[in-house]
Amino acid sequence: MYSSIDKAIIEELSSIVGEDYVIFDTNRIEAYLLDETPPPIRPEPCRSVVVVKPASIEEVSSVLRLAYRSRIPVFPRGGGTGLVGGCIPTRSGIILCLERMNRVSVDVDNMMAEVEAGATLRDLIEAADRNGLFFPPHPGDESAQVGGLIACNAGGARAVRTGVMRNYVRGIEAVLPTGDVLKLGGKLIKDNTGYDLMQLIIGSEGTLAVITKAFIRLYPRLPFSLTIIVPFDSRSAALKTVPRILKSGIMPLAIEYVERMPIEFSASRLGLEWPCKEGEAFLIVILAEQDEDYLYRLCENLLDICVESGSLEPLVAERRDEQDRILKIRSEIYTALKPSMVDILDVTVPPASIGLLMDEVDEIAKSYNTYLPAYGHAGDGNIHIHIMREDGWDKAMYDEVRDRIYSVALELGGVITGEHGIGFVRRYSLLRFSHPAYIDLIRRIKQVFDPNNILNPDKLLP
Ligand SMILES: Cc1cc2nc3c(=O)[nH]c(=O)nc-3n(C[C@H](O)[C@H](O)[C@H](O)COP(=O)(O)OP(=O)(O)OC[C@H]3O[C@@H](n4cnc5c(N)ncnc54)[C@H](O)[C@@H]3O)c2cc1C
Repeated sequence: MYSSIDKAIIEELSSIVGEDYVIFDTNRIEAYLLDETPPPIRPEPCRSVVVVKPASIEEVSSVLRLAYRSRIPVFPRGGGTGLVGGCIPTRSGIILCLERMNRVSVDVDNMMAEVEAGATLRDLIEAADRNGLFFPPHPGDESAQVGGLIACNAGGARAVRTGVMRNYVRGIEAVLPTGDVLKLGGKLIKDNTGYDLMQLIIGSEGTLAVITKAFIRLYPRLPFSLTIIVPFDSRSAALKTVPRILKSGIMPLAIEYVERMPIEFSASRLGLEWPCKEGEAFLIVILAEQDEDYLYRLCENLLDICVESGSLEPLVAERRDEQDRILKIRSEIYTALKPSMVDILDVTVPPASIGLLMDEVDEIAKSYNTYLPAYGHAGDGNIHIHIMREDGWDKAMYDEVRDRIYSVALELGGVITGEHGIGFVRRYSLLRFSHPAYIDLIRRIKQVFDPNNILNPDKLLP
């Protein structure tokens, strides 16, 4: 059904983007084959691929026209920080890499950034900051690209207050698999022009269109912040405090949950020390406000709620370097655990049910005599539960544990993924845990956008 890459195709690609930007040398393509998915569940990449780096939407369109006409698979690639194998080439084809399209400009009056898809999250944060503005969410690794963040509708620690990527994207430019260009929305707060195809493309994981540019809403800076570590004796006590904080009206920028073993492991890898000696389970609460007095009043309220909920002595980090150190230790847990990890789950339940979810997860861990380290975005009902390597376990055993966790999340009104998406890794789980009418519609939508199934095949659905 598909054609493979041959000399004529490489020549045609070179004539579109320039021969310096068509890479087929086997050593050089290695850097474009993988992402951050844990190796035990990651697909084996196909090495019979060519990396193509367009510099404009016109070049993206020409590459896709050629691929569509010749029936060559195209794998859009962002920063390669995905956790479900979404950008990994599973067949011979083109890896479409947008890193040359990385311009960011900020319209201060409209408080909007106009960002090319290959700009990184770090580029966007810095451009907003240079213009006295703020991009509130922090959806993941800062080397992720804006195209990848939008394609995955990334969430991150700050979704509790400010929402996920789709709440910020006000317009996109994208190229369909046929090469046709779509311009949707813009620097707009409101847009009710027919079906909202932009929201359909957001979160479509590179299967419907290649995103080339976005208009992203920015906000005024929140100059004052505190990071508070609240220790508890148990996972359950920590998580049951979360809905109490949310109901109080405090609106933290983030409420993260971490446990002693993984956080100390992460700290020691970085040559740092976790500053709390007491407690086994911790909430890390970030408060950020425009007004310093108001910030400290919120902090007092927060501490009262936590102590009433049975917390041990909280630690309030005020200095920027102290706060950054805590967040650095938190953000490196994944890297610390990765060598012994089989899978990182991102089930999501209604925020007030997170304690119930984790009580059930504790029972599952006991019944399999394993440890399931957990950390993540407690305020969003989205905790990352890790399935770790166990001696003597085979794939069926790991899958069984994963599916039991999925079932519990669904029973609580949740979903199997709230952040990382489906990609390659969760395709069969999507099939198994979704209603057939939903799957049928997904297949038909894909057919409408991509009749030759060239864009990111093998992803989302088998
Ligand atoms: C340490 C770490 C922390 C993380 N934390 C979070 C977190 O807090 N929240 C969260 O949501 N995620 C998190 N992630 C996951 C990851 O950062 C996000 O999924 C991110 O959105 C991936 O972006 P990327 O540019 O790296 O995309 P890639 O991994 O390159 O690709 C991901 C998917 O997007 C598609 N894609 C990429 N660019 C485009 C484009 N221009 N047009 C169309 N499709 C495209 C790809 O085909 C693929 O399907 C984390 C990952 C790591 C390693």
